[in-house]
Amino acid sequence: MKEKSVQVTQVVSDITCDICGQSVVNESQKNNMTNLDSFAEYARLVAEFGYGSSRDGEKFHFDFCEGCFDDLLVKINELKRLHNKGS
Ligand SMILES: [Zn+2]
Repeated sequence: MKEKSVQVTQVVSDITCDICGQSVVNESQKNNMTNLDSFAEYARLVAEFGYGSSRDGEKFHFDFCEGCFDDLLVKINELKRLHNKGS
């Protein structure tokens, strides 16, 4: 005889932007996927610093929605311009 039991498993139900808090997953994708763990169509920033660097082993992980990623691109371009001015 087979005995059945209910097991609770954790799934990724949403991925939110680390800047504005909005979901990075659109509604139709949410409805089609029961686990968003493999969902990869959004902006991510991962930074890991090795031993010996001033951040010594620190890890950073950020997720961004498309709108905030656009804002970030503007910021990156501003920083580029600032750096290029000095040289
Ligand atoms: Zn956002």
